Amino acid sequence: MTKLRVAIETIGCRANQADSANLVELLDENRVEVVADATQADVVIVNSCCVTEQAERDCRKTARRALLGPRSPQVWLIGCAANALADLSSRVQGAQVLRFEQALPEVLADRLHKLAPEPSTLAQPRVQTMAATRRLGRARPMLKIQSGCSHHCAYCIVPTARGPERSVPIDEVLARAQRLVDEGFSEIVLTGVQLGAWGVDLPQRPLLSDLLPRLLQVVSPGRLRLSSIEPWHFGTQLVEAATSHPRMCSHYHLPLQSGDDAVLAAMGRGYTIAQYEAVLLAIRKHRPDAALGTDVLVGLPGEDQASFEKTVALLERLRPTHIHGFSYSPRKGTRAAVMPGRPDREVAKRRVKIIRQLGERLQRDFTMSQIGAEREIIVEDIIADTARGLTDNFLPVELSAQGAQIGELVFVKLEEILPSGRIRATPRTK
Ligand code: SF4
Repeated sequence: MTKLRVAIETIGCRANQADSANLVELLDENRVEVVADATQADVVIVNSCCVTEQAERDCRKTARRALLGPRSPQVWLIGCAANALADLSSRVQGAQVLRFEQALPEVLADRLHKLAPEPSTLAQPRVQTMAATRRLGRARPMLKIQSGCSHHCAYCIVPTARGPERSVPIDEVLARAQRLVDEGFSEIVLTGVQLGAWGVDLPQRPLLSDLLPRLLQVVSPGRLRLSSIEPWHFGTQLVEAATSHPRMCSHYHLPLQSGDDAVLAAMGRGYTIAQYEAVLLAIRKHRPDAALGTDVLVGLPGEDQASFEKTVALLERLRPTHIHGFSYSPRKGTRAAVMPGRPDREVAKRRVKIIRQLGERLQRDFTMSQIGAEREIIVEDIIADTARGLTDNFLPVELSAQGAQIGELVFVKLEEILPSGRIRATPRTK
């Protein structure tokens, strides 16, 4: 008998990727094989996203394609679209839609183990346990410490899809981090749906700024990277904790969404441009070479040309190094879905294009500004005689693979930009 073959198609954000990795971690490798190719699977799990119309379409398409697989797989839809869209099962007939509790990693693992053959009936020898992330082909595992959002921005379906804010207790966070370190990982990416809200629902309400130093002790001598954190969570303490330790990666992502206070207010974001700018400048003061990423949402009802131009002018002034520009699409049940004054689709498309082009230019400028710098990279991949990696400040690099190992931290000098956009680097002694 062969093992049960499972493919996990993850669509959407880092929180979804972390959930998929958590599930893989719980699977018994002796009975369940995680395969990259969904056509080879007996069960295809589509970890879905519904943050935009496009993401929702991608999920449906992925599930329908999976249903046609040669092994006639069971297709399970889980995640945000499964939770938030009441009509999903009628739109992807044949797939099973599993919501909230049914889709917890422990419950899914249990379901899969029930479908899998018993170990005694298997011909394969027992294999060594490996970290889920290695099996998913990543050198930088995500550690999800928080889920849900209680903020309710006017345009966003995530609070419906994910429920209210919930934090992983501190001892469990530290234990999970220790497991990853024991597996040999030297960078951990801390993630959550609303990462900055970690602790609000725990006894004594600990803060993320209290957690970071404790995690750094566990991760030592490796490094810690933060995924997206909303600007309102970046108070003085978090800025200090996120920038003062050398093993905190110089990489911060703070969604902006709009450069116009009126649009921000309509979005219900809860900060002004001046407050956003103050946070960004505080981070940059401590970490002048930091990668600073942001999200910009264009086309919200009420965004006129003048608002859009304010956004562009603000981005030109703040010069984030990475911009994710995306177009608003109404999500049923959100406040923005019934707001008047939505810009024409073509206008929104043009605006997204402008934001993306600006993002490409700022990213290029940032990359060029780092040539000649010496930084630490993590080796993520080795292809033939070339190793590929990522600097602490989020720049992709290439160097000779001689002696390099995936997952290793290497100190390098950044030499030149290659036609691929990566930076050629050479090893240095720290
Ligand atoms: S903070 Fe706003 S945009 Fe972010 S998940 Fe919560 S509701 Fe959505």
